Amino acid sequence: MSEPASLSPPRPRARRTRRGIWGVALVVGLAIAGILASYPRIERYYLRQAGAEDTATLQLATQVLRGALERTEALPALIAERPILRRLLAEPENEGLVPFTNELLRQAALSLDVSDIYVMDTTGRTVATANYRTEYSFLGQSFGFRPYFIDALNAGIGRFHARGTTSGRRGYFFAAPIIDATEIVGVVAVKLTLDRFETTWAESAATLVVTDTNNVIFMSDRSDWHFRTTAPLPEAAVEQIAATQQYPTMSLVPLDVSATAFAEGMERVEIATADGSEDYVRQTSLIAAAGWRVSILTPTGPAIQRAWTAIFLMSLVVVVLGLLAATILGRRARLIERLSEERSLAALLEARVAERTGELKAEVEERRATADRLRRTQAELVQAGKLAALGQMSAALSHEFNQPLAAVKSYAENAGTFLDRGRIEDARGNIDRISGLADRMATISKHLRNFARRPQDKTGPVPLGPIVADALDLMAPRLREAGARVHYAPPEAEIWARGGRVRLQQVVVNLLGNALDAMDTLDQPRIEITVTGGPAPEIAVRDAGPGLSDDAMAQAFDPFFTTKDPGQGLGLGLSISYNIVRDFGGRLSAENHPEGGAIFRVTLEAAPDNAELAAE
Ligand code: ADP
Repeated sequence: MSEPASLSPPRPRARRTRRGIWGVALVVGLAIAGILASYPRIERYYLRQAGAEDTATLQLATQVLRGALERTEALPALIAERPILRRLLAEPENEGLVPFTNELLRQAALSLDVSDIYVMDTTGRTVATANYRTEYSFLGQSFGFRPYFIDALNAGIGRFHARGTTSGRRGYFFAAPIIDATEIVGVVAVKLTLDRFETTWAESAATLVVTDTNNVIFMSDRSDWHFRTTAPLPEAAVEQIAATQQYPTMSLVPLDVSATAFAEGMERVEIATADGSEDYVRQTSLIAAAGWRVSILTPTGPAIQRAWTAIFLMSLVVVVLGLLAATILGRRARLIERLSEERSLAALLEARVAERTGELKAEVEERRATADRLRRTQAELVQAGKLAALGQMSAALSHEFNQPLAAVKSYAENAGTFLDRGRIEDARGNIDRISGLADRMATISKHLRNFARRPQDKTGPVPLGPIVADALDLMAPRLREAGARVHYAPPEAEIWARGGRVRLQQVVVNLLGNALDAMDTLDQPRIEITVTGGPAPEIAVRDAGPGLSDDAMAQAFDPFFTTKDPGQGLGLGLSISYNIVRDFGGRLSAENHPEGGAIFRVTLEAAPDNAELAAE
C-alpha cells in the first residue's frame, strides 16, 4: 500500500509560522524605530533632570553672592562717618595722621572681612588705604576715572565691579562720600574681591558664570572664560570699558555661543571651541542690584549617556519580548504540526480499519450467500431425495392403484349384472366395496401428495406416534410387496418432540426404505420400530439385514455414498435425513445389533405437549 499524501509535512502551516515570526520581527523593528524616534523627548527628559539637580546649586551661589554684596554695600557710608577721615582730608600736610588712618583701615578691613578699604580726596588720589603694607598699595594712586568715585562724589553711592588696576584682582567696589558739614571732602571705597566664591564653585561638576549687563563674563570657575563675552560688544561699550579701565580690553573676545530654550527656565547651550564644542544645560538667575546674571552650566554628557542607556534598555526589552514571542510561536507551530501529524496518522489508521472492515464485510456477505446457496441446494436435495424415494416406490404404487382399480372394475360390472337380475342387495354390497376401495386410494394419494410437496412445515412440538403411522401408511405398498413383517407398538401416551411433521415423516420413510433394501434377499424381512419418550425422545428402526459394512459405518451419512446399483440409490437418503434431524437439534446415528441387523436411531429434543397438533 502506498503512503497517502496526508503524511507529508504540512507546508502551509510552516509557512504560516514563518509569516508569524516575520510579523514579530516587523513589530520589534517598528517598536525600536518608535523608541529611536522618541529619542529627542527622552533626551529632553534627562537634560531637564540633570538641570534640576543643579538648580539648588545655582540658587545657593546666587544667594551667597547677593548676600555678600548686600552686606558690603552699607560699609562705605558707615566708615565715612569716622571723624578721623575728615581730619585727614582737612589736614593733608599732617604727616602723623596717614599711618594712623592706614592702620585703622587695615584693622577695619580685617574685622569686616573685605579686601580693601581706602580713602580718596576729591581728585581721586588715595590718601589712606588698608593695603598700605602690600606691594600693590593704593597709596598715592588716583582712581578719579572710576565710576564709583564719580558717583560717590556726586553725593550718591558708588558701585562698580572691575579688575583692579593695581592688584589685577577682580572685585566689587562700593563707595560713599565723606562729608564735612555740607561739603564733600573725599570718598571712601570698599573693595570685595570675588576670587574666593569661584573656589567654592569649582567643587561642583557644573560651571558657574556671572555676566554683567554687557554680557562680559566677570566671574566663573572656568578662569579661561574670564572677560570673554557671550555676545559681541557694541563699540560704545568697548570705549566705555576702556575709559573706566573696567576690564582688560584685550580679553574681550566673544565666545561662540548658541542657545535654545528647551524647558521652563532651561536652555541648551553649545559653546564652540577650537577643538570641537561643549554642550550644556543653562539656568540663569539675576542679581538686580549689581546688574548681574548668574548662570549654571550643567554638562549634558551624563544626561545624554543616560538617555542612550534608556533607549538601549527599552530596545533590549523589546528584542527580548520579540524573541520570547517568536519562541512561543515556533513552539506552538511545532505542537500544531505534531498534532496534525498524529491526526493524519489516526485518519490513515481509520481508513485502513475501514478498508479491512469493508473486506471482512464482503467476506461475510460471500459466506452468507454461500450458506444461502447451500441451504437452497440442500432443500433441492431433500426434494430430489423424496422424488428418488417416490421413483423407488412407483412400481409398488402402480400395483397399489391398479389392483383396487381392477377390483373396482369387476365390482362395478358385477353390480350391473346384479341389478339386471334384480339382486339389489348384492349390487349395493358391490357399490359399498367400490366406495371402500376409492377411500383407500384417496388416502394413498393424500400421503403421496403430502410427501412430494415441498416442505413448508414449521419446527415445533410434533407427536411421534402419528408420524410413524403416516410413514407406515406411505410405505404400505412396498412393505406388502416385500412381504415384510413390521413390529410396531404405538406408544400408550403420546410422545412429543421438537421437529417438523413432514420432514420427520420423510426421515422414517428413508429408514424403512433402506431397511427393505438391506433385506431384499430375505424371504421373511422383519422390521422393528420402537418409539420411546423421556428427555430425549427416540424413534429406532431395526432390520434383520446384514448390518452396515465397515465402509458404510464410516461413510453412510456422507452425501452420494451408496453401495447400491446405479438406478437403485443416489446415496443421498441418509445424508439428507442426518441434516433434517440436526436441524431439529437432534441426532441420527447408526449401529449394528449384536444379534444381526442395523439399528438407526432418531434422537430428538423433548417438546411440550400440543393438543391441537395431536388432533391434526
Ligand atoms: P442409498 O440408499 O441411495 O444408497 P443412503 O444414504 O440411504 O443411500 O444409504 C447409503 C448406504 O448406507 C447404502 O448404500 C447402504 O450401503 C448403507 N445402508 C443404509 N441403510 C442400511 C441398512 N439398514 N443396512 C445396511 N446398510 C445400510
